[in-house]
Amino acid sequence: MKKLFVLLSMMIMSVFWCLTASAAINVAEEYKETIGQRIRVYQDEDTHWRMQDALVAYRDGRFSQSGNSVINFGIGAKPVWLAFSVKNDGHNAVHRNLLLETSWLDKVDIYFLRQDELTGSYHMGDSLLFSQRPLDHRFFVAGHDFSAGETTVLIRVESDDDMVLPLYFISNEALADRDQWQAYSYGFMYGVILALVAYNVMLYVGLRTGPYLFYSLYLLFFLLLNTAYTGHGYQWLWPESPLWQKWANPVLIMACTVSGFAFALQFLNIKAAWPRVYRFVIVSSAVFCTFMLLAMLAGEFVVSLLISLVFIFFFYISSIVLGVISLQAGNQFAKYFLLASIFTICGGAITANAVWGFIPFTEWTYRATDIGMMMDAILLALALAERFNINQNEKLLAEKMAGIDSLTNLNNRRSFYKYVQPIWAMGLRSKSSTSVIMLDIDNFKLLNDTYGHALGDRVLVQLAETLQKEARSGDILARWGGEEFLIFLPETRLADAIAIAERMRNKVNAIQLTSIKGEKLLFTASFGVAHTLVTNVSLDELISQADQQLYRAKKQGRNCVCSDQSD
Ligand code: GH3
Ligand code: MG
Ligand code: MG
Repeated sequence: MKKLFVLLSMMIMSVFWCLTASAAINVAEEYKETIGQRIRVYQDEDTHWRMQDALVAYRDGRFSQSGNSVINFGIGAKPVWLAFSVKNDGHNAVHRNLLLETSWLDKVDIYFLRQDELTGSYHMGDSLLFSQRPLDHRFFVAGHDFSAGETTVLIRVESDDDMVLPLYFISNEALADRDQWQAYSYGFMYGVILALVAYNVMLYVGLRTGPYLFYSLYLLFFLLLNTAYTGHGYQWLWPESPLWQKWANPVLIMACTVSGFAFALQFLNIKAAWPRVYRFVIVSSAVFCTFMLLAMLAGEFVVSLLISLVFIFFFYISSIVLGVISLQAGNQFAKYFLLASIFTICGGAITANAVWGFIPFTEWTYRATDIGMMMDAILLALALAERFNINQNEKLLAEKMAGIDSLTNLNNRRSFYKYVQPIWAMGLRSKSSTSVIMLDIDNFKLLNDTYGHALGDRVLVQLAETLQKEARSGDILARWGGEEFLIFLPETRLADAIAIAERMRNKVNAIQLTSIKGEKLLFTASFGVAHTLVTNVSLDELISQADQQLYRAKKQGRNCVCSDQSD
């Protein structure tokens, strides 16, 4: 019973299939989709069939129904004949176009026949010069006036490249609409990619870091590859060169993939983190390129196309693997890379499935690769920008850290000069009054020896904090040496500087620390103050005067402030 039901439903389906599928094309109807399901096909060992042989075979019913809306015979297929009938139920002739949207087909011959009489024919294909095309179009277009009654259309296609045949039957207006939409969308896409190329080339010129260069090359090769397989390249860039048109796809796939790998390896820091993986990728890429060269030298087009396709497939898989290991190694940019790769792979998978008939073949599914690639390009440009940003911040931070003493967080000598020199230069012009205080902890060696180095460090930290609290906002503090500190006081008269030093000395005296054993301990510091009208001496002379005053303070018994006024 169940078997019968299945059989019955299969019969109903096949009747329905025949009714819809073998229906002739009617000029009165508009066909928005590809017309593959209305076409009968014949593929044979005998490649020498002439049009008459094909016509006889078609009339004899030796052609078979095509299953897919987009007919596809894959790479390296034998020449194929397509045939279908076009009905015109009206009285007047109607102009319609056959549009074959695959740019890379080597030879396309189209014949229009009424009964047995040839009423029009086209001989196209990218093995001919572009200028020999009947219409200046990147795809193959054959216009015909279909007069009343039935016209038979026979098409012969020969190509080593992937023989995928999205065939449309459309009016001049519909063709113009399609062309316009495609011109806009490709214009947008090429614009975005060219802008990204220019941006990354400029970054490379400015920064001289590898990833920007490889990324620009990758985008550029992708752009060229895209123009090659969309037919824009043959139309605009190399119309005089059918030989390059033939080899452009495999060669550019290789170039795009090699630069893609070079970018990925650098961007993901694979060499440092995973030297073995790095070597593996380099060696396998070299092997692929060698085989490709050999195939090219031997003139084996189909082999070289297959090598390039396997290589790009290898690249997709590797991208994911490299992205994951780089992410695990802690590279935060790897997530962008992974996401970008996933976009490209999904786009490629959608296009492949559309071409092979697993999902509907539409403008969007067919061009999913382009969309995926564009998302990929934008994401990676964002990642490069963020990387640039973070590197810049890290640099700034590192520069700042290089000028700061790690124990006390005060300036070291280097950054003391960096900050003080411009102020000193300004002071020279305004003849301003400037003071400097130098101080040194008293008997610090003894303190270290008695209570340990760690406590000595705590003393230094406490002292630095106290000095910072007591200093005014324009004053510049530095740890000058081990337990020696310097304070630069712009626009400060000697009396004020001495008062500040005294105040600091008292605050230092009040600092209380507790040793590990619980003993309370105090410490003191000695201060030297020097003052000048900036024009009289140099900055180093002023500092040296403060040092001399400090020396005097030590000699006078420590824990005091000495200055040139205190003679
Ligand atoms: P004076 O009162 O004459 O300045 O005697 P002093 O012991 O303070 O001077 P001296 O120059 O003899 O000793 C300085 C000591 O400071 C020696 C050194 O171990 C110590 N020191 C230098 N830098 C640091 C540091 O970063 N941490 C600690 N804990 N000790 C330091
Ligand atoms: Mg000391
Ligand atoms: Mg000292």
